[in-house]
Amino acid sequence: MDLSAKEYQHLVQEIARETGAKRDGTGKNLIVPRCPFCGKSGGKFGIYIGPETARREPFMAHCFSCGKSTRTLGQLLEAIGRMDLMVTPTADITAPLQFVLGVEPEEIDDALTITELPDFYKRIFSHPYLKERGFTYDDYDYFPVGVTNRLNPRFEDYVIFPIIDNGENVGFVGRHTWSKSDIDAYNRKVKYNGGFKILRYRNSVNNDFSKLLYNYDAIHEGETDTVILVEGIFDVIALTRKMELYDNPRVAVVATFGKKISDVQVYKLQCKRVQTVIVGYDGDAVEPVKKAASRLAKYFTVFVANIADAHKDWDEMSVEEIFEIFVQRLQSPSNFKLRKVQEL
Ligand SMILES: [Zn+2]
Repeated sequence: MDLSAKEYQHLVQEIARETGAKRDGTGKNLIVPRCPFCGKSGGKFGIYIGPETARREPFMAHCFSCGKSTRTLGQLLEAIGRMDLMVTPTADITAPLQFVLGVEPEEIDDALTITELPDFYKRIFSHPYLKERGFTYDDYDYFPVGVTNRLNPRFEDYVIFPIIDNGENVGFVGRHTWSKSDIDAYNRKVKYNGGFKILRYRNSVNNDFSKLLYNYDAIHEGETDTVILVEGIFDVIALTRKMELYDNPRVAVVATFGKKISDVQVYKLQCKRVQTVIVGYDGDAVEPVKKAASRLAKYFTVFVANIADAHKDWDEMSVEEIFEIFVQRLQSPSNFKLRKVQEL
């Protein structure tokens, strides 16, 4: 539908007023507190108000609770009882939509799927496995984690970390609480006794992890200027603990779920106006680090944390080792490349 910028703004305003909706972190969705179809509260009903993409048009809406969708402005207005707002498309478009939104009409589909946690998930504040991995009370407080115990046999013996984005669960990571060697030993036996293998990780399946950043909400728009990128959840928590970053609004640690950063993840950092990114992937990941750093360098000031011991994760390093890295071993991407060439 062709709408002038003014018409578009007026519609967004009126719909937000009528439904009590608020923009989400990206500014591209209105989150409606109560679904007009099923009446479920908790912000399950979202209205897309970003620029048109291959898959999405402004004012498409969806409820993650009842699954009801609307595809046109007319259907949406009908659902919220405001057909009076329906506009006759204007021929004269004075300003393109992307001008109003301040974003490039690029094909960035950063829509996330609201994910239910496993049945019988219960948040916990102590756990022997996590204690062994160094968890403190602050860790449980800042990084929600839970278990299902035997009530949900599929997740028995897993600790489950919800992935939260703008206050919503958009995925989860389940980590089996046995050590890797115990799991491997068990799985070798399984071959002979016909049981099921144990997965070290049992994660949510209906979401695309390349669109997610763990601990994203710790980045405060306009306040957090530095983000340290790491591979996984345990790296985020260990680094936050060891550098005492829990309440530091200027620096946040987030994980990309692996050694790669996607366009959507880059975009999500841009949305929060991050200035500096420190790539803190594992020391053995030289090629992926180079790749991620040069991709990020187009948009941010980038440093690479050149980890001395290639085989250590953040949660295996002492506080001293970590400070040494941040004080003495941050390198520009080009220096990092050079150094790695010399080390060969
Ligand atoms: Zn609904």
